[in-house]
Amino acid sequence: MPKVLHSLLGTGAAPDPLLTNAMLLNIALIIFGWRRYRDLTAEIAERRKAEESARRLAEMDPLTGCLNRRAMEHTTTELHKSCKAAGKAVAFVMVDLDNFKQVNDMNGHGIGDKVLSEFAGRLRRCLPPETPVARLGGDEFAFALAYDPKNPDSVDEIVSRVFQASGGRIELGHATIDSTMSVGIAADHDANGHPADGLDGEILMHRADIAMYRAKKDGKNRYSWFEATMESELRFRNQLESGIRRGIANGEFVPYYEQQVDLDTGELVGFEMLARWHSADLGVVKPEVFIPIAEEIGVIGELSEMLLRQAFVDAKEWDPQLTLSANISPVQLRDQWFAQRLLKLLVECNFPAHRLEIEVTETCLHENMGQVRSMLASLRNQGVKVSLDDFGTGYASLSQLRTLPFDRIKIDRSFVRELRDSDNSKIVDAIVSLGNGLQMPITAEGIEDEEILSTLRRMGQLKGQGYLYGRPETAVQVRERLQTAGRLAASRPVQPGDDSKPAEDDNRRRA
Ligand code: C2E
Ligand code: MG
Ligand code: MG
Repeated sequence: MPKVLHSLLGTGAAPDPLLTNAMLLNIALIIFGWRRYRDLTAEIAERRKAEESARRLAEMDPLTGCLNRRAMEHTTTELHKSCKAAGKAVAFVMVDLDNFKQVNDMNGHGIGDKVLSEFAGRLRRCLPPETPVARLGGDEFAFALAYDPKNPDSVDEIVSRVFQASGGRIELGHATIDSTMSVGIAADHDANGHPADGLDGEILMHRADIAMYRAKKDGKNRYSWFEATMESELRFRNQLESGIRRGIANGEFVPYYEQQVDLDTGELVGFEMLARWHSADLGVVKPEVFIPIAEEIGVIGELSEMLLRQAFVDAKEWDPQLTLSANISPVQLRDQWFAQRLLKLLVECNFPAHRLEIEVTETCLHENMGQVRSMLASLRNQGVKVSLDDFGTGYASLSQLRTLPFDRIKIDRSFVRELRDSDNSKIVDAIVSLGNGLQMPITAEGIEDEEILSTLRRMGQLKGQGYLYGRPETAVQVRERLQTAGRLAASRPVQPGDDSKPAEDDNRRRA
């Protein structure tokens, strides 16, 4: 190096060119190495940043910026561990917006997304800072709170604040959404402040979900704490759900029949079909247990069609003067093709439409009145009669009664039962006068004794049914009953006015 410098300054001889080249090569290598080192460090920093943002994205819900389900489960498990070490408790809170599907259906998914973002913002703002908040999917949010196990009320206070600050009206330009929520809480300590063993984020989430489900069941817009009994109830309910699905596949649902009688003459005029579940595990199950579940899990249409099909086969053996009544769930009336489906079924089974009477309850009058009205009208055009069942227990208004095409009103058995005490006949009296005024015939349900029967007879010309005439019976029992009375289709001599044949022809024409 000194030699090179001397030679460059002109004060010395030129060094050996080989050595000079070697030196220049060395300098070039050093510069190259340094630049490579600098590039590599920059590249690593860049990659770290990308990895960090990928990790954040993988943990985050892109719409609301909240944590996602996987990250929340991990965060809760970690929080539970650190709180355990510090002698604190953790509450996992699950929040589900009520009726969010309707918000989407009525306003579109764009507005639905905005509601979710706004709700997430409100939720984060009203919770203590550093609270992990997640969107678990759809309209389901969650957060986890550390609290003093001796003071679980502090969790109630925060949850009440969430109801006040996050719920309520959301204004979005032209759309105004009133949001309520159902909330479930599960903690890793019991109400007395004792820690529970074997918990982690996943179990806490599952329990909060069960508690939230209970809040929904109890009427929504409320919160509930997880209790151990809820889990067994849920297990039983899941068993029922799978039992119902299996029962449909195995044909375990069968129609029973209850006699309907002309109260004046005592003559049998028809039967109401009532579903029973002959469950392999549970024995004979009443419809009050399985119908609401079948409605919720979306199999009521299929179940009802199976029962109707069987009932049409059974009823074709009876005297064609006898009518067949069948209960139709409000859920079935939400299907815009219900009327077409029922008419198709009548044609397939070759059952005369005029012998069928469908019974709908007041609840179905509040949903999509226009659709219900036109469906009932098209069924009536084809000869099917429509009764308003359990009248008086819902909210049918006089104008609905006037404008909807009903052929008959059925007085709920809770009012009929009251007739045992003669002072209590006012409601039934009023319903009978209403029926007379609207020219709608009346059937009284739940006639259990002679006293009720004679009171009803004095009120006018009614039809009736109830345990006084007999309990609901199987198809075989009904067949025997009709055989004895000479009222089976085959055993009955053809009489003037019998219109089973023309009606069947009618059906064929419609087909
Ligand atoms: P509903 O249509 O009002 O049927 C009358 C109910 O009252 C029947 O109960 C019947 O057994 C009962 N009952 C009849 N006479 C008397 C009496 O004198 N005293 C008392 N205490 N009760 C009497 P069930 O069979 O348990 O049916 C309950 C409800 O389940 C029905 O009420 C109906 O709303 C529904 N349901 C039954 N079958 C079906 C079905 O196939 N589809 C739908 N959607 N609902 C059904
Ligand atoms: Mg009924
Ligand atoms: Mg009824």
